[in-house]
Amino acid sequence: AMQGLNGREERIYVTVRMRPLNEKEIARHDVSDWECINDTTIIYRNNLSASERSLYPTAYTFDRVFRHDCSTRQVYEEAAKEVALSVVSGINSSVFAYGQTSSGKTYTMSGITEYTGADIFDYIEKHKERQFVLKFSAIEIYNESVRDLLSSDSSPRRLLDDPERGTVIERLTEETLMDWNHFTELISFCEAQRQIGETSMNEASSRSHQILRLTIESSAREFLGNDKSSSLSASVNFVDLAGSERASQTLSAGARLKEGCHINRSLLTLGTVIRKLSKGRNGHIPFRDSKLTRILQSSLGGNARTAIICTMSPARSHVEQTRNTLLFASCAK
Ligand code: ADP
Ligand code: MG
Repeated sequence: AMQGLNGREERIYVTVRMRPLNEKEIARHDVSDWECINDTTIIYRNNLSASERSLYPTAYTFDRVFRHDCSTRQVYEEAAKEVALSVVSGINSSVFAYGQTSSGKTYTMSGITEYTGADIFDYIEKHKERQFVLKFSAIEIYNESVRDLLSSDSSPRRLLDDPERGTVIERLTEETLMDWNHFTELISFCEAQRQIGETSMNEASSRSHQILRLTIESSAREFLGNDKSSSLSASVNFVDLAGSERASQTLSAGARLKEGCHINRSLLTLGTVIRKLSKGRNGHIPFRDSKLTRILQSSLGGNARTAIICTMSPARSHVEQTRNTLLFASCAK
């Protein structure tokens, strides 16, 4: 069950989604070494030498694992829906896709964003007693530089500290959503923006983080006395992270570290923040060490709800990166 003590989730909900082998992998006779043996456990089937066996676990258990033939709808229902829809009750949340490049992050996240949007519009339709305002914003973080994906001005944006709202992004475009079509148009626009970046900036999408944010404000239509508590405001963040190989390369890149091109401070800091949050420590959590964690601070930890979907390739040729992903997922639990 996702429900923790006090009727709310205390932990970070961590799931793993395995994609199918793709045509290229099949053509080069790559094989899958991983198998989901039930709804929560994934095992490595290839024979390990004795020395390897002492280094790597062969079975990994998470809140839920999804076989290669699971649909994105199913992943949404079981890995993200409850966390994402807490936004209508005024609770901030974040849904992350974490994994190496080509493991299925964007494929998974775009479906989840769309399904959440559909459910939110559905909820609004069914709750005429309340008045809702939906706002949408979209940013990209590339080399610790923040860009507004909805603006024609692609200059880097500073982060500002607002006494009431916490960290805000300067001059951020916030579109008020008119209807479902408007929502899907904006999402397509963001996808196109990111693809333009990809061709001109040399696989930028593997190095950049994308955050789509839906903010919902609502209030009771009939204002009863002075009851301010009837107003709610919260955001749900859909976070398509940079390829996780960026985190491990940082450690092995040696001299290239200084050039800055392989450093992904946001990804490394997110790992630290998530590990500390999952241990329930009250100590210092370094939200302010990266742009990503600063921006997401109010939607991580505390009262906020978090789901992390780790995407993995089944291919033998990707086994090292897959192990890193599963290790990250284990630490987040
Ligand atoms: P990433 O964003 O992690 O780099 P993508 O989401 O772009 O990876 O996926 C890489 C390719 O694999 C895309 O062509 C995508 O359509 C395909 N793909 C990813 N996950 C699945 C899946 N679960 N089922 C079918 N195809 C998938
Ligand atoms: Mg992607």
